Amino acid sequence: MDLVSGVPLWPAVDLPELAPEPLARSIGCDVAVVGAGITGALVAWHLAGAGADVVVIDRRPPGLGSTGASTALVLYEIDRTLGELRELHGAERATRAYRRCVEAVLNLESIIAALDDDCGYRRRSCLYLASSEADARALPEEWRLRREAGIEVELLDGADLQRDHRIRRPGALRSTAAAELDPYRFTQRLLARSVRIGARIATGEVVTLERRADGVTLATAGGHRIAARHVVLATSYEAQAHLERPVAQLGTTYTIATAPGQVPPGWDGALLWETARPYLYARTTADGRMLIGGEDDACDDPAERERRLPAKGRRLEASAEALWAESLGGVRLRAEYTWAGTFAGTEDGLPYIGPAPDFPHATYALGYGGNGVTFSIIAAEILRDLALGRAPRDADLFAFDRGNQRG
Ligand SMILES: Cc1cc2nc3c(=O)[nH]c(=O)nc-3n(C[C@H](O)[C@H](O)[C@H](O)COP(=O)(O)OP(=O)(O)OC[C@H]3O[C@@H](n4cnc5c(N)ncnc54)[C@H](O)[C@@H]3O)c2cc1C
Repeated sequence: MDLVSGVPLWPAVDLPELAPEPLARSIGCDVAVVGAGITGALVAWHLAGAGADVVVIDRRPPGLGSTGASTALVLYEIDRTLGELRELHGAERATRAYRRCVEAVLNLESIIAALDDDCGYRRRSCLYLASSEADARALPEEWRLRREAGIEVELLDGADLQRDHRIRRPGALRSTAAAELDPYRFTQRLLARSVRIGARIATGEVVTLERRADGVTLATAGGHRIAARHVVLATSYEAQAHLERPVAQLGTTYTIATAPGQVPPGWDGALLWETARPYLYARTTADGRMLIGGEDDACDDPAERERRLPAKGRRLEASAEALWAESLGGVRLRAEYTWAGTFAGTEDGLPYIGPAPDFPHATYALGYGGNGVTFSIIAAEILRDLALGRAPRDADLFAFDRGNQRG
């Protein structure tokens, strides 16, 4: 599958840190991790740190799947509001899902602290903007539910937004649990650190998984095998093709990055997204670029996505100019990088993490949704516990058989 079109920012400006060799012989290990994106890297880092014998394998160079294309707004907020999630799963489970996401965002700080590079990490506030007056009228109830759940969040009206952020919208929720990251650099650093403490990493395409009584054997396109006690499938959007029942609808999200030094005056770097669907999302970078994403559509044909890219990029420039019209004072924004990536959301906005249906010794880590990075952090914590034989917290929320009923 072709996951990315155009030229994503991070791989264009960061030097690759790892150049894994193709798998050249058959090997054995405790845990084989398929996928060297941010999810596989987090899983490998946790497991190698806990003393497991880990092998990571990916058909692409590390971080060059969806991860290198990500804008990496690290949000606790799920694509479904807490109110909607309560309707689907009941108050207790919905609240637990939101709280677990807050915890994951906060846990990122300690992971960064363990690496010898900040990987572009910054704690930020996050604004969930009302896209219309009607949406603004629904915000107080969502604010109440989140506060009841123990989440730090403020309700802003149009005047507050104008005063604090120079943005003209009728209202917003402002939260403190949010961060930004360079996801490509972070992935490389995690993998490099994992290798330093004993993990092995190779390139290769996994073509089949064979059940064994005591584990799984992976066969690669190169004709070699990995005999593992356990396999973690951190294969993201490409996993859809192998699931008996697909759990997400694939589409595309589009992104631009301006040149450095184009952040409108008055924008304090708060991460932005909004109530409209599809939504606009935006952040800044350590070197003063604006990253603007959105314009999502159902296109999953790479050639068509490529054709749509220039017009989508212009629409994103125009949306950002409209949002910051006042502080830009007529200055036109110009994208330096424009790209698009495969993307997927689930029915309830939650990821699929846990034992593969009907496949013993295999677990999936599929962090589909606008906060996929946050879901990757949670997935790695849960899968670390499962692979080490511990009982993970909150695994029921993200399991394949969770259903969508209240309860
Ligand atoms: C443009 C864009 C913007 C985004 N913005 C945000 C955002 O702001 N905030 C946020 O939280 N999330 C965002 N996301 C989502 C987030 O980026 C993803 O959830 C995350 O990167 C997924 O990481 P991953 O490691 O699971 O998948 P990937 O990075 O795609 O890694 C999976 C890897 O598995 C490998 N693989 C698959 N099948 C095989 C096989 N058979 N054999 C060997 N290797 C295989 C692939 O080569 C790939 O490298 C965005 C996504 C896109 C595309």
